[in-house]
Amino acid sequence: MNPKPQKVVVLPCSGIGKVYGALARETTYELMDRVRPGMVVTACLPLLVVEDPETRQLVAGNPVITIDGCPKSCARKCVEAQGVTPRETIQAMDFYKAHKDCKPDGIAELDENGRRLAAMAADEMAPVVDALVAGGEK
Ligand code: SF4
Repeated sequence: MNPKPQKVVVLPCSGIGKVYGALARETTYELMDRVRPGMVVTACLPLLVVEDPETRQLVAGNPVITIDGCPKSCARKCVEAQGVTPRETIQAMDFYKAHKDCKPDGIAELDENGRRLAAMAADEMAPVVDALVAGGEK
């Protein structure tokens, strides 16, 4: 039996130049800094691409949630390329579909709507993180 995981790894895609990539990143920061500090960690996706040993170990040894900014799903595919199946795969666009009153804008930095949406998204992801840290299925 695997030991109980201590952390959940949340990996947003790089999302350069895309508002939903920015939303994926901001949602990850909200989870790490406000919603579940100490339980959620992240890493630079390119470190996984270049097969950095520490990043590979982090992803292989803990439950992983990916958040992608578009259907190309780079974060999910990078994790799968390491032989790891994410426990949850999320499209950032789905957060907007669930909260159409919060249309995000901004690339380098999200606007107010985007920041509100990221905060709501992180709140909604909290039960998934809790279940994974508890060692159960989400
Ligand atoms: S999933 Fe889409 S937005 Fe994210 S890094 Fe890949 S191409 Fe860019």
